[in-house]
Amino acid sequence: MTATDLLNRFPRVRLMQGSTPVQRLARLEHMLGDRRKGVSIWAKRDDLMELGGGGNKLRKLEFLIGQAKSEGCNTIIAIGGVQSNFARLAAAACARIGLSCELVLVQMVPRESEIYQANGNVLLDQLFGARLDILAEGDDAGAFAACRASEIASSGGKAFVATLGGSTLIGCLGYVDGAFEIAMQSAEMGMAFDHIVIPNGSGGMHAGLAAATVIAGGDPSRILAHTVLSPADACVLATVDKVNSVLQMLSRNERVEPKDLTISGGQLGGGYGMPTPDMVEAVKIVGRSEGLLLDPVYGGKAFAGMLADIEAGVIAAGSNVLFLMTGGSPGLYAYADALNSK
Ligand SMILES: *Cc1c(COP(=O)(O)O)cnc(C)c1O
Repeated sequence: MTATDLLNRFPRVRLMQGSTPVQRLARLEHMLGDRRKGVSIWAKRDDLMELGGGGNKLRKLEFLIGQAKSEGCNTIIAIGGVQSNFARLAAAACARIGLSCELVLVQMVPRESEIYQANGNVLLDQLFGARLDILAEGDDAGAFAACRASEIASSGGKAFVATLGGSTLIGCLGYVDGAFEIAMQSAEMGMAFDHIVIPNGSGGMHAGLAAATVIAGGDPSRILAHTVLSPADACVLATVDKVNSVLQMLSRNERVEPKDLTISGGQLGGGYGMPTPDMVEAVKIVGRSEGLLLDPVYGGKAFAGMLADIEAGVIAAGSNVLFLMTGGSPGLYAYADALNSK
């Protein structure tokens, strides 16, 4: 079974140019010293893409925009938090493809600073020419988006509404493909990764990776996810459900159960978008050792989770680990206050 066999019946637009690199973080390993317990740490650079600053949402958007275009839509309405990377990349992708873009952004994080509200992703959303509607915490973004969609319809257009994080079943296909890409690279390198470490936000990336792992006959529990949005129990149930729905959509008979997924709640801290000391340390150590940028909401927490798992022996000494760098560096500017504090 190849990615093409599985995915070629789904409409897709190309937003990436080929595979993203896999590289060893040798300087980081050196800086960690005994803390790394002989673990080899590699990075899959999904932060390194040529459009809109890059990031994991572009993989989902290839299929989501493919679907929107096949349905004859001229506008994408994307829902997200104020500092949503998905919203930013939807805006960039629409600019590239020639679609109108509207972003319905909800206050999901209690940060009122000017930089949080207007810098980082919000600044880029505007530069990419999207229309922004910012809703208060608890407002119904789905209802707002549906209302905009019907206004657009009444003026002769057609809107496609993309939900939080783009994690519909179609959106999940981006990381079904991503998992095949990783498998191909690991075969080319002659390297077997014992674990892939990821953040889990809306769960679409995890679901796609896990579904592809199951299809390839692998063990999805070796993907070590760190939830950054929902509590671990709820995250497991929601992600299991997504994996199984994706498998079903791909006409596969395999199914997963909660024990098949590994999701830790240890890095959630005060909740979605709330900085933690371990996140700040992770962002700094990767910056100082490698000159690479993690983001404060997802990657920083997942990386801190990987260090904790090495320390606790969840990742066995001497393993090969692939850390999936998912992008989101514009978020750093929105969190300058949290990152600068001593
Ligand atoms: C959205 C996002 C994630 C999480 O992906 P989900 O599919 O929502 O779980 C991870 N990292 C970054 C930078 C993101 O923007």
